[in-house]
Amino acid sequence: MDFLRPATWEEALAAKAEHPTAVPIAGGTDVMVEINFDHRRPDVLLDLNRVGDLYEWEVGQETVRLGAAVPYTRVIEALGRELPGLALAARTVGSPQIRNRGSVGGNLGAASPAGDSHPPLLAAGAEVEAVSARGTRLIPVEEFYTGVKRNALAPDELIRAVHIAKADGPQQFSKVGTRNAMVIAVCAFGLALHPATRTVRTGIGSAAPTPVRAGTAEEFLTAALEEEGLWDSGRTVPPSVARQFAELVAACASPIDDVRGSAAYRRHALRVMARRTLGWTWDEYLGNERSARCA
Ligand SMILES: Cc1cc2nc3c(=O)[nH]c(=O)nc-3n(C[C@H](O)[C@H](O)[C@H](O)COP(=O)(O)OP(=O)(O)OC[C@H]3O[C@@H](n4cnc5c(N)ncnc54)[C@H](O)[C@@H]3O)c2cc1C
Repeated sequence: MDFLRPATWEEALAAKAEHPTAVPIAGGTDVMVEINFDHRRPDVLLDLNRVGDLYEWEVGQETVRLGAAVPYTRVIEALGRELPGLALAARTVGSPQIRNRGSVGGNLGAASPAGDSHPPLLAAGAEVEAVSARGTRLIPVEEFYTGVKRNALAPDELIRAVHIAKADGPQQFSKVGTRNAMVIAVCAFGLALHPATRTVRTGIGSAAPTPVRAGTAEEFLTAALEEEGLWDSGRTVPPSVARQFAELVAACASPIDDVRGSAAYRRHALRVMARRTLGWTWDEYLGNERSARCA
């Protein structure tokens, strides 16, 4: 096995162009497991650890540009205000050791339907910056996942960064696992309220071949909040609306039975998580509105 260690981004792109089958390695928390278990035996490993750009982030007016290899620990420590959904999800990833190494770029590269970054990226709104020696393209995250553990990257492309919309309202992430920590999600759900546009967005994890948004549930809730005048009234979301939202979220999933849980359990858990995250985010929204009025 050849081991390439580019020192710069340009060298990394040149190496990927020359060796399109090279497997990039960032934190290594997926790649090393696959190699150790002999699930993968790449001819070439492309180590990205010396490429400093990938470990940086920039907070802009509307988005955060998060370097592909920024570890979860940094997201939790530095970006909880701008990216609260992603920071909540990052807290649930693995153990401190995994959070110190593992990255959002690696989660996207692996493209597991159970990856915890995906629901909050879908809910916030994000684009993946995919780069090759040929140029750069921004891929909306919902188009990035193309199948189970498959993504839209071309063989010569690397993820440089993820551009994630800064929170303009409350966000939540909820995950069901077979134990409290160090657990791959049985299913997961992310919800973001967007008061600026009076819309909501969602992300479902581990309950379909790829991470998905619950489109019909989003449309229903966005319309219901508007029709009931809830953004301005200071009232709670009626239980009938919350119930219907939860039903639609579950209907948008296409889960399977596997060792971690049955399809029926996953749909049930999604209903519960959808209702709870709606309650939590709406309470926070009302609290923020009250504080703004008193200030
Ligand atoms: C004990 C343990 C617990 C875990 N718990 C969780 C968990 O709770 N939730 C969860 O979501 N995951 C979990 N994981 C999986 C893993 O930690 C995450 O998927 C993590 O985000 C991977 O990031 P990484 O930087 O380590 O990726 P790597 O292992 O370095 O790479 C992962 C994949 O992405 C590709 N890749 C990496 N960087 C790039 C790039 N810049 N451009 C293109 N492709 C790239 C690699 O080639 C590989 O295919 C766990 C893993 C372990 C070992």
